[in-house]
Amino acid sequence: MTISRLLDKIIKDDNGCWNYQGAISDKGYGDFNVPKPEGGYKRVRAHRYSYEHYKGELKQGEKISPICNNRRCCNPDHWEITTQRERTKKSFDSGNRNKEEYKQTGEDNRNAQLTWADVDKIRLSVKSNAELAIQYGVSEKHISRIRNHTRWNEDDRPQ
Ligand SMILES: [Zn+2]
Repeated sequence: MTISRLLDKIIKDDNGCWNYQGAISDKGYGDFNVPKPEGGYKRVRAHRYSYEHYKGELKQGEKISPICNNRRCCNPDHWEITTQRERTKKSFDSGNRNKEEYKQTGEDNRNAQLTWADVDKIRLSVKSNAELAIQYGVSEKHISRIRNHTRWNEDDRPQ
């Protein structure tokens, strides 16, 4: 079956990506040859073939994008029809990204773990970044960013 030929060309990554090991087009997508009923082969995008095999056929002109930003990836769960992309990409990122990478600008940020009261305590504290990181359950880097005002900038403080 053609899909097993495709799967033979895939190495699965720890993050769930199915990395295509066959030919890669100049745009970075996998190129896959599918036998035509009348003989010969048709070259298709590997990710698109995989997506259609597992998720159903795409409509003419319907585009899909990798939520993992890996064009070689053939995991059908890592591709979304472009109109749905932004929403899914966000949930993919939030599940994978480290806490400290969130842009925390203030309490109204839904990802914020700290409050302005915490931030004030952190800035006044004589404890080390490491101690505060454990106490508040954030990274040391984040504590240091709070202390040097890279995060939780006073301009964002509610009046
Ligand atoms: Zn992927």
